[in-house]
Amino acid sequence: DSLGHEAGDQLLALVARRLRSCVRASDTTARLGGDEFAALLHDSPIGAATIVGERIVASIKEPFRVAGREIFIGASVGVATSREVVERSETLLHNADVAMYRAKKEGPGRVLVYETYMHTEALDHLNLRGDLQRALREGEFRLQYQPLIRLADGVATGVEALIRWHSPTRGFVSPVDFIPIAEEFGLIVDIGQWALETSAVQVARWRRDFPDLGLNVNVSGHQLVHPRFADNVMRALAIAGLPSSAVTLELTESVLMSEPDLGKAALHVLRGLGVQLSIDDFGTGYSSLAYLRELPVDELKIDRAFIARAELTGEDLALVRTIVELAQILGLRTVAEGIENAAQLSALRRLGCGYGQGYHLCRPTDPDELPSRLAR
Ligand code: C2E
Ligand code: CA
Ligand code: CA
Repeated sequence: DSLGHEAGDQLLALVARRLRSCVRASDTTARLGGDEFAALLHDSPIGAATIVGERIVASIKEPFRVAGREIFIGASVGVATSREVVERSETLLHNADVAMYRAKKEGPGRVLVYETYMHTEALDHLNLRGDLQRALREGEFRLQYQPLIRLADGVATGVEALIRWHSPTRGFVSPVDFIPIAEEFGLIVDIGQWALETSAVQVARWRRDFPDLGLNVNVSGHQLVHPRFADNVMRALAIAGLPSSAVTLELTESVLMSEPDLGKAALHVLRGLGVQLSIDDFGTGYSSLAYLRELPVDELKIDRAFIARAELTGEDLALVRTIVELAQILGLRTVAEGIENAAQLSALRRLGCGYGQGYHLCRPTDPDELPSRLAR
């Protein structure tokens, strides 16, 4: 992308030439558009295509020289075969395309042979869009709530809203699977708004009995960059009658890193209105801590990957300790995610981690069952 038009075309021409060098003179190669190419191997034994695919991957991996620069790229290859004379070249290309997308998903340098299940998967993926739209319309989503526990005294100071989807046709679908697709299809803004409105109403109700209860809501990057994000949040809270100071928005580190400027203004606006901000999955991101100073952050949620091994001594414990100390210096709360046993809990208490969440403390719970846990 950073190459510019002319150099980009040059690069594509070089790629085409390399591709050509990987096949026989009697074979056909073509550029399909964008950065996609096709090679049609005539009268080849089944199996030869995979070998050619591997050859292509190896050849493309070698650096290209364009406009005085060395460029490194990777190829993903999808293979489809047909025993018949290619009268149905469209199907063949389509199948190769499906396999290629799958190969791409698994990371560069993969060669995958088309199999029928991939087609089903591709279809499945498409149907999912309609299913998700229907789910929102028909009210198939539910929320569960998992308490955030203050480790010093075991009091539930807040709850995190976690979305659930029981599809009539698919059964239970994990948010880990459908949230990325809802993002891809642009449905996450509406789904996220539904989650925010619903949980705000619920927590406002619970606050009659538990006046200090807070609400943590997960926010996708797509919501954050939406021009009306701050308005949408404030509208949901106003309708629910929930004070903004009771609400913490959870954004993942990777979202905050990849949207350095776009969402920042909205976050500052919301913070100015009293809404708090939490960095979810903290420690799994790649880059600097500089943004911790630039963003109006209140809370760090230490990713459960670190907690999973935190009862042990060693690197994970050291990492958690470092995050807790960093948070103390910056005046932030720390929440440890995924506490699954007593050893982890006591290790975290010893380190001075303020809050915790996890199956050992309380599982995500249906709203009608939660008050009994809050009362403890
Ligand atoms: P997350 O925000 O990191 O949520 C924590 C996940 O850890 C939840 O999975 C929760 O059920 C699970 N968990 C809690 N305690 C434990 C434990 O002790 N051990 C283990 N192994 N897991 C524990 P869940 O509910 O499947 O949600 C997965 C992810 O889906 C969430 O990760 C969040 O990123 C996303 N998500 C859920 N609800 C929403 C939503 O309303 N909006 C958006 N944008 N994302 C959501
Ligand atoms: Ca979360
Ligand atoms: Ca998390």
